[in-house]
Amino acid sequence: MTSREIRKKFLNFFEERQHKIVPSAPMVIKDDPTLMFTNAGMNQFKDYFLGNKVAEATRVADTQKCLRVSGKHNDLEEVGHDTYHHTMFEMLGNWSFGDYFKKESIAWSWELLTEVFNLPKERLYVTVFEGDEKDNIPFDQEAFDFWKAHIDESRILKGDKKDNFWEMGDTGPCGPASEIHVDLRDEADIEKIPGKDLVNNDHPLVVEIWNLVFIQFNRKADSSLVPLPAKHIDTGMGFERICMAVQNKKSNYDTDVFTPLLDEVAKISGKKYGELSKTDIAFRVIVDHIRAISLSISDGQLPSNNKAGYVIRRILRRAVRYGYTFLDLKDPFLYKLVPILAQQFEDVFPELKAQQELVEKVIKEEETAFLRTLENGLKRLESIKSELSSSNNKLISGDVAFELYDTYGFPLDLTALIAKENGLEVDEKGFEQEMTKQKDRSKSAAKMETGDWQIVNEGSDVEFIGYDEVKSTSKILRYRTV
Ligand code: ATP
Ligand code: MG
Ligand code: MG
Ligand code: MG
Repeated sequence: MTSREIRKKFLNFFEERQHKIVPSAPMVIKDDPTLMFTNAGMNQFKDYFLGNKVAEATRVADTQKCLRVSGKHNDLEEVGHDTYHHTMFEMLGNWSFGDYFKKESIAWSWELLTEVFNLPKERLYVTVFEGDEKDNIPFDQEAFDFWKAHIDESRILKGDKKDNFWEMGDTGPCGPASEIHVDLRDEADIEKIPGKDLVNNDHPLVVEIWNLVFIQFNRKADSSLVPLPAKHIDTGMGFERICMAVQNKKSNYDTDVFTPLLDEVAKISGKKYGELSKTDIAFRVIVDHIRAISLSISDGQLPSNNKAGYVIRRILRRAVRYGYTFLDLKDPFLYKLVPILAQQFEDVFPELKAQQELVEKVIKEEETAFLRTLENGLKRLESIKSELSSSNNKLISGDVAFELYDTYGFPLDLTALIAKENGLEVDEKGFEQEMTKQKDRSKSAAKMETGDWQIVNEGSDVEFIGYDEVKSTSKILRYRTV
């Protein structure tokens, strides 16, 4: 089954069950101060759950362009290093707004996976919420019983709040969840370690494919839970992961979602994918990042020096540098991948094809500009490295990181990444102080705004409020969205 067919089968399946198929919301969010990028299928429906709006249809399904590079969901560090987390991915989803509930949701998920996608039943595991004493929520017996009608009890696992309870924010709709995991290992490996021991354990071949949320409570300001009068279903399935499972591959990158892109990078670089771990990571980062970059630009978000635009610029510079250092790509190359994406997405996200020329031009210009300073910046880092090693120091100071940012266009996270590859660290706090100094100097906030990824100092308050909130009350430094 091709990826195109898999997407289509998902949507058809729910359409046959009276779901209205709706388009993806934009990935770059313009009008929500609490969230910069869509990070889940449910984002565009939050007002239905909050009761602020009435849904046009009570059953809806779609595929949503998601980006997880900031806030509560930040998978950037995993991307390329593992084979199943992306920056941009498609989340297939079906929703019930006060219509069907656990029974149908569970039965249909099972039917789709085992009868339409033909995944072997003995390779699937499901999880249910174990309950929570503090919140006075019992074990999700209901979900357990519905699952038991389809799958052997030994394959139903209990999960805690972290994985199996979803909340929109400090208050508001919430409820228990079930996750579906698939074991894609070889038989011999399964005989050694049972799959159930690897669920939710960061194993690259025992992965979560689908998350079903049963929204049945409302958390009030005094933190108590009351049952909702109308209960809702919110599900999300990773498209690239289900393609891996259906196509029986061991990595998302081995599916037809990514192989045309990998082939093109191989052609441009003269290097092969699948030979060396370092170059493989670069291959994966590049084919991942180009999707995030292209789809953001076709949503109207150009790379820039602040907010969402700076996130895109950072992702692009990261991809350029992986190509430069590990694949010897010294000339602009990312833009050459856009035509492949435009064609791949032409029926689901036609906005890319419609703006293909602009997207290519913007990317090529960005690459060209960064490549002008990249080599000198890397040389500067080399000399810093030898200075540090002669004084037995492992910390790149804030002012050096700032110089790399200011003179060579190195985003802080790129300096931190290269530092990590070399066993060094960056004084991120010092960098921020330099940044503040510069801001004060220039007085023009607009000119030197750091944008999204400012560092919040210890002990600060909630910084990212809303239904996808991040609390920053710990002693760890955290990035915040401003
Ligand atoms: P994981 O535990 O693997 O990080 P998650 O629990 O954070 O996944 P959800 O928020 O439940 O993910 O999202 C719904 C589905 O979207 C997941 O079951 C998974 O299939 C997919 N998904 C989540 N994050 C990513 C990602 N970064 N790249 C690709 N697919 C993803
Ligand atoms: Mg995650
Ligand atoms: Mg999970
Ligand atoms: Mg999940």
